[in-house]
Amino acid sequence: TRQRFTRANPASAARHEGAKKALPGGNTRAVLYYDPFPLTVTGGESNRLTDLDGHTYVDFVSEYTAGLYGHRNDKIAAAIKAVADSGWVLGAPNAYEAKLGAAIVDRFPAIERVRFCNSGTEANLMALSTARAVTGRKSIMVFDGGYHGGILTFAHGGSPLNAPFPFITAQYNDIAGTKALIRQHGADLAAVILEGMMGGGGCIEAKPDFLTMLRAETQKVGALLILDEVMTSRLSYRGYHGKVGLKPDLISLGKYIGGGCSFGAFGGRADILDRFDPAAPNAFGHGGTFNNNIFSMAAGFTGFTEVLTESALGQMNALGDHLRATMNEQLQRRNVAGTVTGVGSLMNLHFVDREIASPHDVEAADHRFLQLWQLEMLLRGQYVTPRGMIALSLPFTRADIDAFTTIFDDFLLDYRSILP
Ligand code: PMP
Repeated sequence: TRQRFTRANPASAARHEGAKKALPGGNTRAVLYYDPFPLTVTGGESNRLTDLDGHTYVDFVSEYTAGLYGHRNDKIAAAIKAVADSGWVLGAPNAYEAKLGAAIVDRFPAIERVRFCNSGTEANLMALSTARAVTGRKSIMVFDGGYHGGILTFAHGGSPLNAPFPFITAQYNDIAGTKALIRQHGADLAAVILEGMMGGGGCIEAKPDFLTMLRAETQKVGALLILDEVMTSRLSYRGYHGKVGLKPDLISLGKYIGGGCSFGAFGGRADILDRFDPAAPNAFGHGGTFNNNIFSMAAGFTGFTEVLTESALGQMNALGDHLRATMNEQLQRRNVAGTVTGVGSLMNLHFVDREIASPHDVEAADHRFLQLWQLEMLLRGQYVTPRGMIALSLPFTRADIDAFTTIFDDFLLDYRSILP
């Protein structure tokens, strides 16, 4: 399969080799690398991508959830063009940022105030720093396998670059163990941060009782509960916290909310966020040249209010539920030991056949099966990730899903003898 992939993509292979001279590994985003080399994409329309060798793909990655609106949406393109025509880098509040802020506060129940920044990583760093400042405490509890940004990664073995805070690591969905750890570290615990559904950790959803316990226990010890909604806010119109009725103290946002431009935001309780008002006593400063960059504000506002209707989002998440259910049936029918986890439009294929409640449950999987799956799906025109994650976008139709599941079934049949 590797050789067929290399033969089919000579231009991408050559670009990758050339790029390695300046960029370690040929690009500047760890997640985009896969063996033997990643395809170079030249353009995209709707949910279709074109690569340097002239192939087109149906895009089941959707820019790791940031591409919710597809690759080129007319309304968002018009907003970006209007900004390009009237000037950018202006160094003043612009017409869009308060409108985007108001739309976010209006939609997400636990976000009473919001501040913008440039990425999900930065949003989480700001939320964690804010929690430390308001509690006067130092420690942060994270979950093994969680992903909160380039220097806040506890997924896939973590990263030696995680330096900024002392972290206490707990196990996702382990109610008793986590409760004991919160009580043990309570006096110095500033915050617990988690995703309502682990994204990079494998699309594993938190159990309702786990979230209830976290809300109650953090409150008891005086620590903040931070929900990282960078990926999950698309799982319902009111965000993941709105869907499950959780009231975190702080929430981070990112990805698609910038309309496809660089974006991050953190928000939550007004009494905490109002400390960022420069007129407040002992105000927190929060700078950032591009915090209100007008492309992100305009594209974000247009996408969030004009494209992302409740019904469009509901249809996309229902398509995802259908895709996940169909793939799980196919795995069973073909007697392959695999499971597709996830919620709505986000999911992850694991070649493991057991209940998956935490990243531990997928550790035993042999990564080579996912690699084989990825390259075979790419060769069949389906753009998927090497970690098995699938994210849909609004342009997806039932026909795209049906075509994909037919191809997936062919793959299972072709490789049944070697799959687990
Ligand atoms: N939190 C979560 C849950 C994420 O999935 C990501 C990005 N994959 C981030 C934070 C970081 O966002 P960014 O890449 O914009 O820094």
